[in-house]
Amino acid sequence: MSNEKNVKVLILGSGPAGLAAALYAARAELEPIVLTGMQLGGQAALTHTIENYPGFPEGVGGAQLGELFQKQAENFGAKVEFDMANEVDLSQRPYTVRTDSGEYKAETLIITTGANPLHLEIPGEVELTGRGVSYCATCDGWFFKDKKVVVVGGGDSAFEEALFITRYASSVTLIHRREEFRAGAILQNRAKEHPKMNFILNTVVTEAVGTDKLTSLKLKNVQTGEESSIETDGLFIFIGHSPNSQIFKGQVEMSDLGYILVNDKMETSVEGVYAAGEIADPHFRQVITSAGMGAAAAIQATRFLEEREAVHS
Ligand code: NAP
Repeated sequence: MSNEKNVKVLILGSGPAGLAAALYAARAELEPIVLTGMQLGGQAALTHTIENYPGFPEGVGGAQLGELFQKQAENFGAKVEFDMANEVDLSQRPYTVRTDSGEYKAETLIITTGANPLHLEIPGEVELTGRGVSYCATCDGWFFKDKKVVVVGGGDSAFEEALFITRYASSVTLIHRREEFRAGAILQNRAKEHPKMNFILNTVVTEAVGTDKLTSLKLKNVQTGEESSIETDGLFIFIGHSPNSQIFKGQVEMSDLGYILVNDKMETSVEGVYAAGEIADPHFRQVITSAGMGAAAAIQATRFLEEREAVHS
């Protein structure tokens, strides 16, 4: 194939795990190539402000942090390509990765394809996505200036994003299916003290209503069974994530939920194939943990290649 490229380290995904792996592999002079996937910088790039990545006492923009990661990796020779892997063949080394632009033959592969937001799977959700229903406050918050917004979820994401939307919206109502929240105490306190924030507990959204745009939501109290509705211009859904592992199915070992299984060296069940960040981490999902996993994967890939070279030289 004319557009075939041979690479020592191919990294799929450009979030914190992918770009940290690129930095380490580049510094080992392995000239890694990063295929960005859909979103340069990964989910972190969609986060307005990251306050818990060490070294930035005032916080740092998610997109800005991604750009810094990228620049640092490129300074040492990493190449970042705006390309998307569609198919992989992990049956023999070098591994084959088919993309929008051609085909790669990779001696080692680092999978950092991350995760996507889960959907509520209620009537109206798909039809009204982009017309009031959203999964990204940084992307869409601005459209809800002086409007009423509902946020669904009880974890850190829901609280963080709800607080962000208060910059624009006239009110933000957080709807959660239980009495207790998973979100950390600092975020909970900030939200509870915020004058624009309201809470509806023990309640689920059963339908998003509207023709051209979202106008209201149908609700159900899970304790009493009572049904009601709430008028709203926006519905932001932050109820967790599902891993982007479809193209690796049947080729590497995965959990029931589709997370790629790795050992403490980020090795998958296939020799020379590593996974790092949210694709392999249903537990922590932090920029710092993902970056750490990416660095570990690149160090291990470097050792793997050095051992092979020593045997064959
Ligand atoms: P999460 O912690 O898994 O929380 C998901 C929330 O959505 C839970 O409250 C869950 O309710 C609710 N939920 C799930 N399915 C639902 C459904 N079908 N209908 C209604 N509600 C539903 O997810 P996350 O908030 O995205 O956070 C993921 C990880 O990233 C966590 O480890 C979190 O700490 C981390 N994170 C950290 C930060 C930060 O440190 N600043 C920011 C964002 C995320 P239940 O509680 O009833 O299960």
